[in-house]
Amino acid sequence: MTKPARNALLAEMGLAPLWRLRRPPAAESVEATLEASGEAPAEAPPAVLAPPRAPSLSAGDREAAIQAMDWVALKQAVPACTACGLHSGRKQTVFGVGDERADWLLVGEAPGAEEDRLGEPFVGQAGRLLDAMLAALALKRGENVYIANVLKCRPPGNRNPEPGEVTQCTPYLLRQIALIEPRLIVAMGRFAAQTLLASDATIASLRGRVHRYAGVPLIVTYHPAYLLRNLPDKAKAWSDLLFARRTLADLGRR
Ligand code: URA
Repeated sequence: MTKPARNALLAEMGLAPLWRLRRPPAAESVEATLEASGEAPAEAPPAVLAPPRAPSLSAGDREAAIQAMDWVALKQAVPACTACGLHSGRKQTVFGVGDERADWLLVGEAPGAEEDRLGEPFVGQAGRLLDAMLAALALKRGENVYIANVLKCRPPGNRNPEPGEVTQCTPYLLRQIALIEPRLIVAMGRFAAQTLLASDATIASLRGRVHRYAGVPLIVTYHPAYLLRNLPDKAKAWSDLLFARRTLADLGRR
């Protein structure tokens, strides 16, 4: 691999130095003059920090690099990501949380304000509803359950993810799925379902069937934030979760 390609790959993986010390040439020549004259420089000039370099890999190479990452590399790459405009408004990235060998993988849409503040998915009001629904199934985040989002950064004002943001961020989710090897995926809401199924069908039309993502059974249900606004559909979401549990039970033990 050539040096520029290697550097680009390391940068993409978050392993290259993000900040480079840049010395203005003028400061260098002042120092050189002082050195030559034997005078001590009064004080070192303040370091100027260069902004992080934009990823320079092609889309295909970037995806291939992400798909080759282990957990450590992935957890470094996501917080270092500047692939879409959302990075400039985030407090932090929201990677995902839970058992990295979980049977259950729940996928949501994108962090909201609370998630952006705390760095964990589904910790706001929708998250409390999700935790309650999990508890009703005798499940708990972190115990045989992993929770992730399609987007790792909060869209401003909690607007819908834009197609370009989904395109840039999806490789991280796909790598999480490959590393977790869940036995069942629950896609919560339109963005998770449409992204993982590469479909533009509605939630209503996708519910009630076992789909597959890369061979893994996938069940579609409503997003918890939607349920907070549409209480009557809670019963439908509950029946989706019971369907998911039966589907997993039918698969037998690992
Ligand atoms: N909604 C989501 O889709 N994900 C979160 O993490 C929080 C709210």
